[in-house]
Amino acid sequence: MEAEAEAEAKAGSLMDIGLLRNYDLYQYLLETSVYPHEADSLKELRALTSTHPMAVMGTNPDSGQLMGLLLKLINAKRTIEIGVFTGYSLLLTALTIPEDGKITAIDPDRSSYEIGLPIIKKAGVEHKIDFVEAEALPALEKLLEDHDNHDAFDFAFVDADKHNYVSYHEKLLGLLKPGGMVIYDNTLWAGTVAMPEDSVPPGLLPFRKPVIELNKYLTADTRVQICQIPVGDGMTICRRL
Ligand code: SAH
Ligand code: CA
Repeated sequence: MEAEAEAEAKAGSLMDIGLLRNYDLYQYLLETSVYPHEADSLKELRALTSTHPMAVMGTNPDSGQLMGLLLKLINAKRTIEIGVFTGYSLLLTALTIPEDGKITAIDPDRSSYEIGLPIIKKAGVEHKIDFVEAEALPALEKLLEDHDNHDAFDFAFVDADKHNYVSYHEKLLGLLKPGGMVIYDNTLWAGTVAMPEDSVPPGLLPFRKPVIELNKYLTADTRVQICQIPVGDGMTICRRL
């Protein structure tokens, strides 16, 4: 195996075993508590995405289950999604929010969104989605230009280019209602945040530092209440104070 392919495979396997570092235990958790409650359309989207070369980017179903619960607990109606890919977390959000809820879903890559779109349409929730084909930063700036969007959103899920998370955070604080929630995904980066740099698979190196910086930034931010949870690839839940 070529060195690069080997590094990718190793990075993939770190993601596969999950943060529990125990494949059987992770499967137990999924099979006992997650899969029995996962909507058929989400299962279908996950199966469709599994053949994609970047399938590892799709949201883990256990992360999805937690998101679904939190969305219900806060009665989320208006949400923002940064990083759509084939749409697992997007479809999950669309299935969870009320009939008149709206998701502003931002991703410069429409083609991946279109892979999942037929399943989203079949699930009858496309009307809740406003897909914005753009980089997130200018898209958030545009949202902020309209005063009606200030302090207006209940929830945001951030799952895109990790080196921009801090900039997204600053914009999102202007868009979220006080009491609103933002979840940052992959904040334990396959556990590499706690590994010595020289033992990190090269495929995981580029985003490791930005994730470490984000974690420091969020913990020092007095405008939010946070909780770092080791579900999926690590999620940081923030509540705007
Ligand atoms: N939430 C998705 C996974 C997202 S993967 C799911 O559940 O399947 C990361 C996505 O971020 C990719 O689709 C990529 O196109 C997108 N992305 C990369 N850079 C971005 C940027 N600057 N702004 C918005 N999205 C970006
Ligand atoms: Ca993710």
